[in-house]
Amino acid sequence: MVALNPFAIAQQQLDRAAARLGLDRATHELLRWPQKELIVAFPVQMDDGSSRVFRGYRVQYNGARGPSKGGIRWHPDETIDTVRALAAWMTWKTSVVDIPLGGATGGVTCNPKEMSEGEKQRLARGYIRAVADVLGISKDVPGPDVYTTPQIMAWMMDEYETLVGEHHPGVITGKPLPLGGSEGRSDATARGGIYATREAARELGVDLAGKPMAVQGFGHVGQTAALLGHEILGLKLVAASDSKGGIHNPKGLDPRAVVDYKHRTGSLQGFPGAEPIDTGAVLELPVALLFPAALENVITVENAARIKARICCELANGPTTPDADAILSDNGVFVVPDFLANAGGVTVSYFEQVQNTYNFYWPLSEVHQRLDEKMTRAFSGVYQMHTREKVNMRLAAYLVAVARVAEACKLRGWV
Ligand code: NAD
Repeated sequence: MVALNPFAIAQQQLDRAAARLGLDRATHELLRWPQKELIVAFPVQMDDGSSRVFRGYRVQYNGARGPSKGGIRWHPDETIDTVRALAAWMTWKTSVVDIPLGGATGGVTCNPKEMSEGEKQRLARGYIRAVADVLGISKDVPGPDVYTTPQIMAWMMDEYETLVGEHHPGVITGKPLPLGGSEGRSDATARGGIYATREAARELGVDLAGKPMAVQGFGHVGQTAALLGHEILGLKLVAASDSKGGIHNPKGLDPRAVVDYKHRTGSLQGFPGAEPIDTGAVLELPVALLFPAALENVITVENAARIKARICCELANGPTTPDADAILSDNGVFVVPDFLANAGGVTVSYFEQVQNTYNFYWPLSEVHQRLDEKMTRAFSGVYQMHTREKVNMRLAAYLVAVARVAEACKLRGWV
């Protein structure tokens, strides 16, 4: 199979929205490409005394609606095109939930699973030294993504503050609580997806209580989705998978026990009371709710016709290719598209920035209430577009988000 380029996919999705919105050529062209890209190479001292040079990226896609915002991913397969795609999706994400920020993403090509804590700390600090010029609370604010943690955010914030000689907690989000992190940030991505799913089920008249759910990608977001799906929506976890394999029990699995097992052993394999299942097969089970929560391009033309979920809530970025999307629509799988489904993370990151700026912190209940309001309103706007324009939910989300960014570009006189 030809490798699918996530940025080509992001551009293709935008092209469809631009055609439908009737965007003029200059605006369309402006929104097809990042406004600024920085590629760096920086050395890191390894524990054995040798130096290794890593490649890092920061892509600021569009800043018309405010300072850029977006995660930093550490992954062996990271390329400029994955970072560009994530930065584009982040631009549509901040727009669809209507927070006054632009979109960006950063990354380092590395394998953190093979690095010690000391090496990770030196990598985090080296990356910030290399990209610090383009960061700042009124320029661009990074946050966590795949394989980057609150501890890594703390090292990065400390390095930035050391460079500029001032406190700037709002320069990075997803920090630990004692360093200005927000209550409710750690589960915000999955929680936002659960709120959006609740609204989807309400619109579709589907009762989710006691119904099966499957989680593909049992990392930070996937684990939280399993716990909150059970706690808030009453869903029954029947399958979960990570990069090493999956587990399945149609009678139900205790999400807390599965999460604890994964933390204890580092994998799902051997979980008592479940059968092993292929990672791919987890996507194809007859469930009420499917959470793809791993990486891009897992639902393709190869398997889309076998997806049987009633609702697919895309917590991962870019899990479905455009051709697969059409098949899901035809088969009546209701998709809560990625940049809407997983917008809870950036929404609470924005709340974190606001609290850092005021140096005044909100209780957890306030964060949850504000997140619920944002997600419910965003879902409702996209759902109305979906019914009014008779387009699928992904195109509806694009129409809402792209129109807002295009309007900001025009008001600034850029196009
Ligand atoms: P994570 O590193 O904690 O988890 C990723 C998980 O996916 C790991 O458990 C890994 O084993 C698993 N995985 C990788 N390949 C797989 C495969 N082929 N089959 C099954 N599992 C596989 O990362 P995360 O922070 O949970 O992010 C997951 C997704 O959510 C990513 O697409 C990320 O961009 C997106 N996202 C994360 C946030 C956030 O706040 N962390 C916000 C928005 C979107």
